[in-house]
Amino acid sequence: MRATKGLLRYVNPLQGTNSHHGLSTGNTLPLVARPFGMNHWSAQTDQSSGWFFSPRHRKLQGIRCTHQPSPWIGDYGHFTIMANTDPHFHLSPEKRARAYKGEFHPHYFRAELLNDGTVIEMTPTERGALFQFQFPSAGGRVIFEPVTGESSIEIVDETTVCGWVSGNSGGVTEDFKHFFVAKFSRPALGIFTFQGNEASSLEAGDRVGFFAAFGSDVEMSIATSFISVEQAQRNLELEGLTTKSLDQLIEECGAIWEDALSAIIVESDDETKLRTFYSCLFRTQLFPRIWHEPNAEGGIHHRSPYSGEVHDGPLYTDNGFWDTYRTIYPMFALIQPRRLTEILQGWVNAYKEGGWFPQWASPGYRACMVGTHIDAVIADGLARGITDFDVPTALEGMLKHASTVGDPSGAWGRIGIEDYKTLGYVSSDHHESVARSLDYAYDDWCIAQVAHHLGADVSAYNASQTSYTHLFDKQVGFMRAKNADGTWVEPWNEFHWGNPYVEGGPWQASWAVQHDPAGLIQLMGGDEAFTDKLNKLLTTPPYFTTGAYGMEIHEMTEMAVAGFGQYAHSNQPVHHVLYLFNAAGRPWRTQKEVRRVMAEMYTPDDLPGDEDNGEMSAWYVLSALGIFPQTPGHPSWTPGSPLFAKATVRLADGKKLEVNAIGEVDNDVYVTQMELNGKAIDRLQLSHGELAAGGSLTFHMSAIPSEVVVPPSGRPYSLSPYQQ
Ligand code: CA
Repeated sequence: MRATKGLLRYVNPLQGTNSHHGLSTGNTLPLVARPFGMNHWSAQTDQSSGWFFSPRHRKLQGIRCTHQPSPWIGDYGHFTIMANTDPHFHLSPEKRARAYKGEFHPHYFRAELLNDGTVIEMTPTERGALFQFQFPSAGGRVIFEPVTGESSIEIVDETTVCGWVSGNSGGVTEDFKHFFVAKFSRPALGIFTFQGNEASSLEAGDRVGFFAAFGSDVEMSIATSFISVEQAQRNLELEGLTTKSLDQLIEECGAIWEDALSAIIVESDDETKLRTFYSCLFRTQLFPRIWHEPNAEGGIHHRSPYSGEVHDGPLYTDNGFWDTYRTIYPMFALIQPRRLTEILQGWVNAYKEGGWFPQWASPGYRACMVGTHIDAVIADGLARGITDFDVPTALEGMLKHASTVGDPSGAWGRIGIEDYKTLGYVSSDHHESVARSLDYAYDDWCIAQVAHHLGADVSAYNASQTSYTHLFDKQVGFMRAKNADGTWVEPWNEFHWGNPYVEGGPWQASWAVQHDPAGLIQLMGGDEAFTDKLNKLLTTPPYFTTGAYGMEIHEMTEMAVAGFGQYAHSNQPVHHVLYLFNAAGRPWRTQKEVRRVMAEMYTPDDLPGDEDNGEMSAWYVLSALGIFPQTPGHPSWTPGSPLFAKATVRLADGKKLEVNAIGEVDNDVYVTQMELNGKAIDRLQLSHGELAAGGSLTFHMSAIPSEVVVPPSGRPYSLSPYQQ
């Protein structure tokens, strides 16, 4: 047992892992990795599906090198490492599995096999890992097995094996390979290839792996590359895997995580709150993953999953913009501006290499979800002062997908773009037409922000950003699908899920006007009516039809059991909605409800639904600080209700923001007064610059709501901030 100290001891990597196909408490993996590491590692207990780890399973099949951003997207470049002393030479995952006791940390994993006391320990580097295997007797075996796909194994000598695996779930070019070099600390008694459960003479083929036999304890360092075996060897050397001890690398990785978690230091006597907070903060430091590797000249390069070629510069991947743009990118702008600069240049490189921005990247183009919310990611970074990336090329790519027909399956571009350009909305001729229409209006507003920054003409986008009004049916009070001839699609059912919406229905989808809350409020009948509608969202029974899905999908179940009516926090479309009470001038309603979500839906063990590359966690981290990015693309934050008496946020250039909550924070959920650097503020919007400059933000808390309606001048503003 290696004692874990500092903030790391609050992180529970098992948070969100007790999930299955039918119900997500996060759909996460107990990842062991460096922050944003090119490789993640996870215990594997069931190879048969995307849910390859469960804390309920008692047997360990191995430790998987994984790149899976979500079980719905799948893994690639994956392989599993296991060790045991099985006298029957079983090799397949089911047969080599052993009852185990696991110790899970972000920087260190240890498994003790309970049949004989074999101990497996490992710690990750960015592109590799160091394993130590302790065998209680002679007859120890280390097993390396690809999870899917073709592979090639070269046994170089009695201490070295190299090769590649090519398993993937799509999103790769034809010659995709994940190369590796593995080195043992002592000569093996023998190294053999195998396939299935049997030793084999094959050196390449479907899932060919290797096993190495040892008479006593051994270490194995392994590094990988998406470029070549030579590059994997370079990574092995540069990351200290040929020189440093297990203890040194554990300490190094622990220190890196401690520093990453120190970005926000919260103070509390409540261990449960601390564990929830830091487990969430851990989740925000894993995706999108680094895809570039160090070249021989001291720079970086990457093999592009978009072109198959090796290019200079950064690339990141494993990210679904539909989910992530809402919280995690604005959070990066606040606490990781340098990292964000590199990530944004990486997304611009993806466009340059593939000709289009990806909609969902893993590792290359994947057709999943709707919208082109890379627009929001780029606009948001720029709005918050991240300018040191190729903005003109970014705008070129955004204008391309906003005007040109893209991939018919939706991996890039905008499905229904012809309709949208001519009608002002996507007609019911296209799948998920309401969701797409609303997303395009917001995304065009984001494009206008970027165009304005470069001094380009934004007039076309000014018209587009109000196009959401086309789909609001005043009769029913919701966003509704329209036919190409302008008539509403019949029949109407407010509880209908799925097409023409996506992963939700009218109740969840009708708020997707992030850029113009004032316009949406007006459309829904003004402050009173809008507030009433939000209240109904929270109190209407969670009824739904299974719609085009034909079955109860997990998001439906999660909404139904959460106890928040139609407010489905288990999925992203509503993540800005509780903060819309602010936009209607009723901040006490925001304060109450966001606290309720924090208290009832997040624990050190469970999340409300799919974690989705840091987004679900970032919602919590930011809400716990008492701030929220209501409109990604707009340089502002809107206040909520802080969860901790004191939080210190590390900003760029050594600056700090101290967030204080005066009162009994556990009971006092309402804010009576806010002060920025000692001066009272009477508005529900803080500029990004005000917070990023550092200083103190103080909330005076009370158990009694201050039901003073904030006038429009003090509310989060909307539409075309560049004109103001
Ligand atoms: Ca989701």
